[in-house]
Amino acid sequence: MRKVFLSLFAGIILLGAFYFFWLSPRYTSPILVYHDFGYEKSGSFVSPENFNRQMEYIKKKGFEVITLDELVKSIKDKRRLKRNKVVITFDDGYRDNFEYAYPVLKKFGFPATIFLITDLIGTEKEYLSWDEVRVMSKDRISFGGHTRTHLYLGDVKDDKVLIEEIAGSKKAIEQKIGVTADYFCYPFGGFNKRAKEVVIDAGYKGACTTNRGFARFNSDVYELKRIKVTNSDTTNSFSFWAKLSGYYNLFRSRKNPY
Ligand SMILES: [Zn+2]
Repeated sequence: MRKVFLSLFAGIILLGAFYFFWLSPRYTSPILVYHDFGYEKSGSFVSPENFNRQMEYIKKKGFEVITLDELVKSIKDKRRLKRNKVVITFDDGYRDNFEYAYPVLKKFGFPATIFLITDLIGTEKEYLSWDEVRVMSKDRISFGGHTRTHLYLGDVKDDKVLIEEIAGSKKAIEQKIGVTADYFCYPFGGFNKRAKEVVIDAGYKGACTTNRGFARFNSDVYELKRIKVTNSDTTNSFSFWAKLSGYYNLFRSRKNPY
């Protein structure tokens, strides 16, 4: 009996030590990434109804949606945030972001960042118009660069092209809406050392990837890892709960950025 008690006690101590010394310091506020909204449009779509339920869930569970800027500031200041923070981002700048996601965000008062492929904005009908971007920028939606043409930066050898794509998308946003574009997002999450340097030189305060890159636990603000939300992440699924847990990235394989 005593033996059972002792091994149980040792087990609890070990689990506690694992939590306090290994798991807990690796917690990071989740940065969610969405793409398009609608019905069966692509592999990455989320239906407007499901998005609404996900946002409702975030509110009900006591999460606070903060801006990417607030998160980056806390990382730079080495300030630990409470465990109820979450950041929402959108990639590419699809028109359905305005049609479906924006009204939901507005209803809940949540901020978000949309990364724009600037050459496509206002030119292709499935992408946002600059007027729609301007309307949202007056609310709690901020805009970041996602290159001009959605190039995989890991393969670009020409410095001129890198600068054109990275600094060019920042400039386009600032000229069109008159608000600084502080953050960048690598298309397909891919980058290399030089691309990262160009992002820094362009004046961006940070950059998002997917699960690429090896900077641990979102400590490098130019390699922020995000978590993709899909339509199968329903609010009663384990996956959505896990994605908000702050530990999701720990158990995913990290892809080489290059
Ligand atoms: Zn993209």
